Amino acid sequence: MDTIIRKLLPSELINIYKSIELDFAEGEYAPYDVLAKQIEKGVQKGYILQQGKTDVAYSICADSCANGYILISLLSVYKEFRGFGLGSTFLEELISSYSRNQGLIVEVERPENAGSDEERALCEMRIKFYQKAGFYLIEDIDYSIWDVPMYLMALPLRASMPTINERIGRIIYEIYLELMGKRYIHKLKVKQLANRLCKRSDFMRYEGTVYRPPSEAESLLIQATIGCPHNNCTFCGMYRNTKFRIRSVADIKEDLLMARDYHGYKVRSIFFADGNTILMKTDQLLDVLYYARDMFPYLKRMTVYGSVKFLKLKKLHEFRLLREAGLTRIHSGMESGDDEVLRSIKKGFTAAEMIEEGLKVREAGIELSEYILLGIGGRERTQEHALESARVLNAFTPDFVRLRTYVPWKGTPLYEDYQQGRFHLLSPYEALKETRLLIANLEGPFELLSDHVSNFAPINGNIPNDKPEMLETIDRLLVVPENNFRQVDSRYL
Ligand code: SF4
Repeated sequence: MDTIIRKLLPSELINIYKSIELDFAEGEYAPYDVLAKQIEKGVQKGYILQQGKTDVAYSICADSCANGYILISLLSVYKEFRGFGLGSTFLEELISSYSRNQGLIVEVERPENAGSDEERALCEMRIKFYQKAGFYLIEDIDYSIWDVPMYLMALPLRASMPTINERIGRIIYEIYLELMGKRYIHKLKVKQLANRLCKRSDFMRYEGTVYRPPSEAESLLIQATIGCPHNNCTFCGMYRNTKFRIRSVADIKEDLLMARDYHGYKVRSIFFADGNTILMKTDQLLDVLYYARDMFPYLKRMTVYGSVKFLKLKKLHEFRLLREAGLTRIHSGMESGDDEVLRSIKKGFTAAEMIEEGLKVREAGIELSEYILLGIGGRERTQEHALESARVLNAFTPDFVRLRTYVPWKGTPLYEDYQQGRFHLLSPYEALKETRLLIANLEGPFELLSDHVSNFAPINGNIPNDKPEMLETIDRLLVVPENNFRQVDSRYL
């Protein structure tokens, strides 16, 4: 006969509770009034398995914890229906209904602590029952609930078993905190368990050097990609020796979970490194963004790097979806608006493409932070670099224009050109004059920031409102003796 699962009505709890008292050892279940309150508040849910019109089994699950793990608090088949595989059917149904969650956890009494052979056999049977459904026994922890020594068993769904093993203390602690609140949690051994096991996950898994814009100094850094898929700009040494790869969504989520353990849930800003995370498939990036929002309910900002070469691969509607999912800002290294400079430094896109993609991103409602590299045209193209960069920026008006000054990076092709005399660095005055020409030709509106130690002039403000003041600052600097500025090729800024 067909079976269905239905939700337990709060009014039915009184009858179910009589069975709970018979089916479980004292201490394994909450007092009636506590359980009733939890069900009323929705922090625990009750389910009934029906065969035809007959109720044959019940379960109580704690499924409202933001960490995405479900604790099967109780599951039992009524005595008269045992031996027909209904428990397995019920468990399978529960597993499938929670398949979008991280994992299922269940507490089972330790057979070695059973008071009689009969109880011991029952405990062993319970463990086998869950193992048959794919649950793993987590043995190396000291765990008890209301002083009843227990094993924890876990079924990984979206999370992996190593992650669950690593985080089990914190997972259980968070579930019980949700169930019981701060007032009682200290009475449970789960708190000690969480504290002890948290030390094991007291780290983040970063690969190589993680670069981030200065404006992301306060952000949580999560690597969604490793390296840069372009890795060809002649001036850039950031990922030169790193083989590019996109990390799996599962790994990124695990990092978010670890970060939540370590930093708590009040993270407000996340930067998804490394280079050009925007390249990720849209559905995968959406998955990550929504998950991050679930993990950190106070999140205000999520940002990535995105060069035009990769912005081009996404359509307007995809950017809109990403915006909806919480992608607030893209940091994009335009470097120059001069096609000749863009070609020589091998940026992989043209000025026209920059304008097109910039307009597209802005239309989707995502902020754009554009980076201009002063001096990257060398002495030969300083004028064109300044004027064309201003023209392109005026055409799509990013939210932020951020200035950096080119400093040769050993091991890059442009460093070799500089060493061999094929590329000529700007002197401090020349760099200031280039900056002046750029700013004089900017119309905005946008914020212009000089938030980098490489720059010769501390220029910050709004374009066009603060333009006269910015130009005055540069004019004042242009009378400071040139040897007062940093060395033009100093990498040790
Ligand atoms: S796209 Fe960015 S990270 Fe990649 S090589 Fe160019 S500057 Fe470096």
